[in-house]
Amino acid sequence: MSSIAALRAEVCALHSELIRWGLVTWTSGNVSARVPGEDLLIIKPSGVSYDDLTPADMVICDLEGKLVEGEHAPSSDTEAHAYVYRHMPEVGGVVHTHSPYATAWAARGEPIPCSITAMGDEFGGDIPVGPFALIGSDAIGRGIVETLQGHRSPAVLMAQHGPFTIGKNARAAVKAAVMCEDVARTMHFARQLGPVQRLPAEAVDSLYDRYQNVYGQQPTSKKGAR
Ligand SMILES: [Zn+2]
Repeated sequence: MSSIAALRAEVCALHSELIRWGLVTWTSGNVSARVPGEDLLIIKPSGVSYDDLTPADMVICDLEGKLVEGEHAPSSDTEAHAYVYRHMPEVGGVVHTHSPYATAWAARGEPIPCSITAMGDEFGGDIPVGPFALIGSDAIGRGIVETLQGHRSPAVLMAQHGPFTIGKNARAAVKAAVMCEDVARTMHFARQLGPVQRLPAEAVDSLYDRYQNVYGQQPTSKKGAR
């Protein structure tokens, strides 16, 4: 199987994870992957139901978001994904959802405060809010990049819209989307109980460093997953 065929299959399978973790409704949400070594990305087609998605339906676009190969039009969010790949060479995967708890924080335009260790681990601080931007220009992509460059968080809550997440590959970006929704829910519950305090900065640094560099199976292990 060619690397493009394998990546189509992987991106298709990762879309089922959005369903499995309750992050998407109807046809909303999308996962994309950069094609390694090429100025190309693979993304979900626009308006196809999740039940009907097959690897062959995945669309290949250039990094301007223009269709290169595919039977369907690319996701309407493709321009935003493409902008991220053009400006953040370290990014290999991008995910966008309207997952309800994260989007509730986005609706308020409020960062999710880093008050629990899980957030220190995964996000290294607050989950930041990006600017309000309408679809149809590069404003969404620019807002994502301007917010996440120089930030440890792989997730941004685009104001009054919803979360976008990035990762070194598409699977990592999906994981960030799942974890973003998870902590958004927990912090929502916490706020119902009363005021919450952020973790001290040193604790966040220590958690983030340990989780990113030490936690999980070491490279000598055959399992590798965490
Ligand atoms: Zn959206």
